[in-house]
Amino acid sequence: MSRLAKMPPIEQDLYACTMCGYCVPVCPAYQEAGWESASPRGRVFAMRQYDLRGPLDRLLRRHVVPGEAFARAAWECTGCGACEEVCPAYIPFDRLWDDVKAWMVESGMGRPALAPYLENVRETRNIYGKPPEERAAWLPPEAVQAETPEVVYWVGCAASYEKQQIARAVVKILNAAKVPYRILGPEEWCSGAPLARMGYEGYVKNALMPHNIQAVAQTGAKALVTACAECYRAFLRDYKDWGENPPFSVYHISHFVEKLVREKRLTFTKPVPTKLAFHDACHMARVAGAYDPPRQALKFVKDLKVLEILPSRDAALCSGAGAGFPDVYPEQAAGVASRRLQAAADTGAATLVTSCPHAEMHFERVAKQRNMQISILDLAEAVAQGL
Ligand code: SF4
Ligand code: SF4
Repeated sequence: MSRLAKMPPIEQDLYACTMCGYCVPVCPAYQEAGWESASPRGRVFAMRQYDLRGPLDRLLRRHVVPGEAFARAAWECTGCGACEEVCPAYIPFDRLWDDVKAWMVESGMGRPALAPYLENVRETRNIYGKPPEERAAWLPPEAVQAETPEVVYWVGCAASYEKQQIARAVVKILNAAKVPYRILGPEEWCSGAPLARMGYEGYVKNALMPHNIQAVAQTGAKALVTACAECYRAFLRDYKDWGENPPFSVYHISHFVEKLVREKRLTFTKPVPTKLAFHDACHMARVAGAYDPPRQALKFVKDLKVLEILPSRDAALCSGAGAGFPDVYPEQAAGVASRRLQAAADTGAATLVTSCPHAEMHFERVAKQRNMQISILDLAEAVAQGL
């Protein structure tokens, strides 16, 4: 085994834990795995034992040093934020699990299944390893890029390469409101949100964050708009947690739609008489605290009925897509998604709508694998249908 790197400075958080167990049943990884070491409390307990180890432990060769088994458990986590939400000791788990995974990576115990994502971003600046010069290939040739933009539309890797219909929907919304916007094309690098949850936060902080903030700032735009819950979280929260202060406002497209309607720049005229089951994306909801804006944006669409998938809001179950969970634990990740898909189907709607393209792709894969009769739609697409 490689040498264990120094534990991040989380001792105070570990000792704050009262072992009450509230975080255990809400953890989607625990719900699938069913053993305590895969739960937040189990991992906290293991790290506390390591921190408390004494000479007798060494003499008796007690295995209190985190090794491969602990590293495996560290990635039994989707980064969903449910543990932080319920913890009465206010342990900042959203940050803590990133630090713990980074500690394992530094100790040579990263997950090989996730290393290609880091390599892809290093080489091509997107998590899929696709050509950077094709990042804006989705943009219609007639689209006009403003010289002095009001906003930068931050597309994200997923909408740039895999879910381009989301990008086109956002452009439709911005055009309908006559918002002068610009995209960054190859100068938009991965925001790093998926990588930070996989244990690569050091690379994100040092290589991606400074470039991305500067690339947006130098357009002169006063605001960034994105339709990706993960990118939204990166700019709104992660970059600030890491000491940066981006000189522009950060909007999810649903907030921005609300602003445009309030300013009477956008009106919805086309009826969309359908039912959609709304899924709270973890990075947008629990982690960034944005519960109402996506619901409000959908309410603007005439005749659209939005149904709640239960449990919802701060108790919502995650999709299982985050933190590389589907790559490391495909069966468990599919199990988490299928429970959520079933809950969506139970609302009576034929379509699930959400604001995270990564969750959408995971849901789509699982629905297909398990032959579930439900389709997936992005919030920006649902909103754009009403224009
Ligand atoms: S909810 Fe918080 S205090 Fe309770 S066991 Fe989990 S980490 Fe510890
Ligand atoms: S963030 Fe979610 S998946 Fe990770 S330990 Fe907490 S509850 Fe479990």
